[in-house]
Amino acid sequence: MTPETRLPFVLGGPSAKRLADAFDIRTVGDLLGHYPRRYVERGTASDLDALVVDEQVTVQARVRSAQNRTYGSRGSSRRGRQPVRTEVVVTDGSGELLLTFFKQPWQVDKLKPGSLGLFAGKVGSFRGRRQLLHPEYVLLDATGADGGEYAAQLVRPIISVYPATARLASWRIAACCAAALDALGDVDDPVPDQLLARRDLVGLRAALEGVHRPEENVDHRRGRDRLRYDEALVTQVVLARRRHRLDGLRAVAREPVAGGLLDRFEQRLPFSLTAGQRRVGAEIAGDLVREHPMHRLLQGEVGSGKTVVALRAMLQVVDAGAQAALLAPTEVLAAQHHRTLTGLLGDLALGGMLGGADGATGVRLLTGSMSTSARRQALLDLASGVAGIAVGTHALLEERVGFAELGLVVVDEQHRFGVEQRAALAERGSDARPHVLVMTATPIPRTVAMTVFGDLDTSVLAEVPTGRLPVQTTVVPAERPGWLERGWQRVREEVASGRQAYVVCPRIGVDDEPEGMPEEPVEADPPARSPGHGVLATAAELTAGPLAGLRVEVLHGRLAPDVKDDVMDRFAAGSVDVVVATTVVEVGVDVPNATVMVVFDADRFGLSQLHQLRGRVGRGAEAGLCLLLTDAPDGTPARRRLDDVAATTDGFEVSRLDVALRREGDVLGAVQSGRRSSLRLLSVVEHEEVITQARADATELVSGDPDLVRQPALAAAVAALEDTTRADFIDKT
Ligand code: ADP
Ligand code: MG
Repeated sequence: MTPETRLPFVLGGPSAKRLADAFDIRTVGDLLGHYPRRYVERGTASDLDALVVDEQVTVQARVRSAQNRTYGSRGSSRRGRQPVRTEVVVTDGSGELLLTFFKQPWQVDKLKPGSLGLFAGKVGSFRGRRQLLHPEYVLLDATGADGGEYAAQLVRPIISVYPATARLASWRIAACCAAALDALGDVDDPVPDQLLARRDLVGLRAALEGVHRPEENVDHRRGRDRLRYDEALVTQVVLARRRHRLDGLRAVAREPVAGGLLDRFEQRLPFSLTAGQRRVGAEIAGDLVREHPMHRLLQGEVGSGKTVVALRAMLQVVDAGAQAALLAPTEVLAAQHHRTLTGLLGDLALGGMLGGADGATGVRLLTGSMSTSARRQALLDLASGVAGIAVGTHALLEERVGFAELGLVVVDEQHRFGVEQRAALAERGSDARPHVLVMTATPIPRTVAMTVFGDLDTSVLAEVPTGRLPVQTTVVPAERPGWLERGWQRVREEVASGRQAYVVCPRIGVDDEPEGMPEEPVEADPPARSPGHGVLATAAELTAGPLAGLRVEVLHGRLAPDVKDDVMDRFAAGSVDVVVATTVVEVGVDVPNATVMVVFDADRFGLSQLHQLRGRVGRGAEAGLCLLLTDAPDGTPARRRLDDVAATTDGFEVSRLDVALRREGDVLGAVQSGRRSSLRLLSVVEHEEVITQARADATELVSGDPDLVRQPALAAAVAALEDTTRADFIDKT
């Protein structure tokens, strides 16, 4: 028997069918990958007070009393006898749980006071007491005789408690696992011996035994450590092989040109680059002169100046006679980038036009909503090479945009960009691939970067330009209306001294779905919440009330693209004082003159999202202020989270807080296009050390043996991962 053996050959049909129905477990390997949820030491009662109504549970407890009671009337039973209800009380020593059986009077003879058992069922409530109705159970008497076919599992010193269902009790699963372990022959260990020794890990067989049938607690701990490492190693080998393949691809080296556009641009830059911008710039410049494609992730703090870094890379490529494309996640951002780049470049961007500098290039915007003639011209200029730089949204990918010679693709604000789209662009180059630079919108924890973007080299831009004052964040609770009044006064003062403000709401109108909110709330919403503030109503209230007399405009996703552009243009130009917006202003929007942001219903936003939002203010020389309005009461988790965000200005810290609040799948899903992770024991939040070790081990293995010919078992595990949807996100980056 091997891990691939189908279960009916090992367990018989009925058990196999139940496992398949309940958990989609079909093979020996699937079954042994269904790890216990927890372990109970024999004789140690479960904490009955901790049981939650509606949960499927398996508890260990001792029978305190068992009684038959009659109920109903004689006539209600066919044989004319009064029906019997059996009430059994089990206890953990202090707390109690009621077990109820109808018309099974013999249960009193089996459930004798003093006997210890495992009881499984869905927790219900009866007259204020928690109960299990018709629970499944097994008794754990010293002989183990009552356990019947499960006896072998039940006399063990440590009992494995599995995720179970009403039709498939934990001890049945334990018996199936035991049968599978007994039937399983030699297992090929995917982890090479020298790595087991280096990382002090037990072999695969021992790990499976330890996890499913531990003799001592240390057995399941060591088993889990080992199996967790497996998950990390296999993932990292997939990524290391991907890096290795990329290294084998060809790209054209784009050498800098002395006196070229890049040099001339730097001379006219209105500020000096930060040390971080220089360092990261040098890393990228070094990649661009190599003959295989750059594949680099630039992780940047909000406001750290990634755009300039990207532009310098683009100019190096243009100087070398090729073109660069900058992709933004929204039209608003694409239009802004176009404005920013043309603004920074001045006459260097007027290639082929009147007033253009010698050797100037062209920067063309390409979005889905442009007029036909404008887009035709842009397409022509890109095809002819007159334009060295293209700025756009997905439209740049979705259509067959022909470049004369595409040398570099920059993907800005990665969080919103699907992997498939990145893959599509990377395929663009004909024989040689373009270099690719991916920029994150928000810092992400190192381990998430290593797991999700593990095939990319990483640069970090943690500092913001010097002289910039940190954004002051204040939580304004509903119970302090005076603070809010003071907040609006502050907005008016800022506007009076020539500054601007954002007001952010979670939705457009009252009836709308939240716009741009995380797909899944961080935790379940309490019932009966108000729908939250809408942009339209809020703008109306503000202009009629606290912000009367100011130039207020709205910005949201349902406006036509040219209207959005127009609002942003006028806001950037200073002819709009306050923009009331949804999270369309979340990423990337850069108006240095804006100094205040007021966020309604702040508790409805993710933490990284709030960090992004407040990054829109304080981008110039003036200090920024961000007010987080909430009706979450003091002391609630929602309120604490806001206090945590307010207390730090460090995006990496915020992302750690954010990630710690989410489930694993959401962590990976949040930075990817919604894909779920099936990592079971490995947590990218908690297991940084394991991931770091596995990455080093994987890199070493792959560099010595890229096709894993000397590691057939590992090669098989890697192939299996590459086959699953799980690999989609890894493989296509
Ligand atoms: P982000 O990294 O969030 O995308 P941006 O690239 O939009 O940040 O830059 C934020 C602001 O900082 C912009 O207004 C930009 O012009 C400015 N900026 C960038 N680099 C510097 C620098 N070295 N010194 C001063 N200001 C800078
Ligand atoms: Mg940006």
